Amino acid sequence: MSAYEFTDHVYDVVVVGAGGAGLRATLGMAEQGLRTACISKVFPTRSHTVAAQGGIAASLGNMGPDSWKWHMYDTVKGSDWLGDTDAMEYLAREAPKAVYELEHYGVPFSRTEEGKIYQRPFGGHTTEFGEGPPVQRTCAAADRTGHAILHTLYGQSLKQQAEFYIEYFATDLIMSEDGVCQGVIAWKLDDGTMHRFSAKTVVLATGGYGRAFFSATSAHTCTGDGGGMVARQGLALQDMEFVQFHPTGIYGAGCLITEGARGEGGYLTNSEGERFMERYAPTYKDLASRDVVSRCMTMEIREGRGVGKEGDHIHLHLDHLPAEALAERLPGISESARIFAGVDVTKEPIPVLPTVHYNMGGIPTNYWGQVLNPTAENPDAIVPGLMAVGEAGCASVHGANRLGSNSLIDLVVFGRAAAIKAGEVVDPNAANPDMNPASVEKAMDRFDAMRNASGETPTAELRLDMQKAMQADAAVFRTDKSLAEGVDKMTVIAGRMSDLKVTDRSMIWNSDLMETLELANLMPNALATVVAAEARKESRGAHAHEDYPDRDDVNWRVHSLATVDDSTVTLRTRPVHLDPLSTADEGGIDLAKIAPKKRVY
Ligand SMILES: Cc1cc2nc3c(=O)[nH]c(=O)nc-3n(C[C@H](O)[C@H](O)[C@H](O)COP(=O)(O)OP(=O)(O)OC[C@H]3O[C@@H](n4cnc5c(N)ncnc54)[C@H](O)[C@@H]3O)c2cc1C
Repeated sequence: MSAYEFTDHVYDVVVVGAGGAGLRATLGMAEQGLRTACISKVFPTRSHTVAAQGGIAASLGNMGPDSWKWHMYDTVKGSDWLGDTDAMEYLAREAPKAVYELEHYGVPFSRTEEGKIYQRPFGGHTTEFGEGPPVQRTCAAADRTGHAILHTLYGQSLKQQAEFYIEYFATDLIMSEDGVCQGVIAWKLDDGTMHRFSAKTVVLATGGYGRAFFSATSAHTCTGDGGGMVARQGLALQDMEFVQFHPTGIYGAGCLITEGARGEGGYLTNSEGERFMERYAPTYKDLASRDVVSRCMTMEIREGRGVGKEGDHIHLHLDHLPAEALAERLPGISESARIFAGVDVTKEPIPVLPTVHYNMGGIPTNYWGQVLNPTAENPDAIVPGLMAVGEAGCASVHGANRLGSNSLIDLVVFGRAAAIKAGEVVDPNAANPDMNPASVEKAMDRFDAMRNASGETPTAELRLDMQKAMQADAAVFRTDKSLAEGVDKMTVIAGRMSDLKVTDRSMIWNSDLMETLELANLMPNALATVVAAEARKESRGAHAHEDYPDRDDVNWRVHSLATVDDSTVTLRTRPVHLDPLSTADEGGIDLAKIAPKKRVY
């Protein structure tokens, strides 16, 4: 057994992650009087949520008619009929409430003339169940919406006496022999001490795993740590094959130009100066959903109509818009374009390229955020004491493809739902369970083995190999051949984890070790992604398969579940929830409205 000493902490709830999801959960738990700790590997307001520009979807109807049912329809269609119907209803219905709560907590939303929350159009958000014109549903604080939300929620959480453990890296879950989550182990990065957190409920809010790919809009911290922790307990990850590419990452740098830019009137052109989206999506044009726009851009480039010396990217125009509007509504992206592309957006187009942006898949949960351990008898069985929210989780509201501005609303709706559920199931007067020593020992043995890893391969080298393999073979265009190659390459790459070399053995600010632990988390996420993609013989949402161009609802309207054991992935499926929370008679949506059909924009 490895000899590490622990500092012990006892809480009702421990939230791992301080992005929008983690902070909304933390705040909600603390408001109910639960003793709540929030652990974060970066300072809370540096979480990736800070970078969200465009906004947060809710059918407030401030700019014209809107309804939660239209929002639900758009989400169902966006998901390409893979989302869970109950969860999508919960999201659309609760969204306005969750946004007004944010307003009351102090989020400085942009305003209309009458002082209402300003809302902009976003791709895939429409009226009249997709029959009407685009709707202005996306609530925005200029182009810094995530920044505004994060700062407000952090302040409110402090006010509610939530306790923060900042720059603590959670390494593993502590689980009882019979599968109850009992807490989490964390390494304090700045002084090298180890900490054991006992909790009646652990909430994983660790964000996405964009960094499994070479070009990503997400922060370097987005390494799928929650998914890694769950996979190591033999629990399944869900719908991992669905990875969203954002149409407009800045060419070369990867940083994001928000879809809000097209919402405000921006458009794309090819090397012939043609507004090609008019050809592919005659109705919604540049505001068709993200997977559609990304695929069209890739098609233009493949057919030789890309721009630039190499003909390998596309132009985004804002130069026809009034300079004052750009300065008021899109100041941040004007700055990004100047810094990262050397472009003055009032005069020239921005060079852009589809870039990995969001992971629809993740830790399977119900719409209360409770983590699922699906069995053949009960596909909705839960893991007691464990929740997951935000991009780390898969509720599943985004199904095969997430609509723009539906993630920020997912963070707050399900962060809030997790807190409501915890208020019901966590008894503040009960004693905390004794933590299973075998589980702690296993986690520390793994940590110690990583710290002393003395193979031949530096972490950065293996990480780059993984990122390149994923970018080449699990990106926008997928074929039987490319995916089979991807599985082979990734199996070999995952096998090389045992050959890692960590050069720094210290416990204090050991970034070599931290990046190695992160790579160990990225790897099962990446492997599950490519294996599940290879297995899914259809095209749905972000998973566009050239050899199976159509959606196959008979065989494939199912969630995939991937269990990862080192370099071996085992796949099974889980039924999609087709029942809504309320029937049409009870005021719910008319199910005929959301019956599967071809997804065209
Ligand atoms: C550039 C960009 C722009 C976007 N714009 C929009 C938008 O306009 N609208 C929209 O709806 N969506 C947008 N998205 C998507 C959305 O912002 C993200 O999906 C969302 O912010 C994820 O939030 P989160 O709380 O789940 O995770 P994050 O914000 O990524 O936070 C993860 C947290 O987990 C912590 N953590 C992770 N691992 C560990 C560990 N091992 N130990 C301790 N702590 C850990 C981190 O410190 C961090 O606090 C955007 C995404 C990007 C990348």
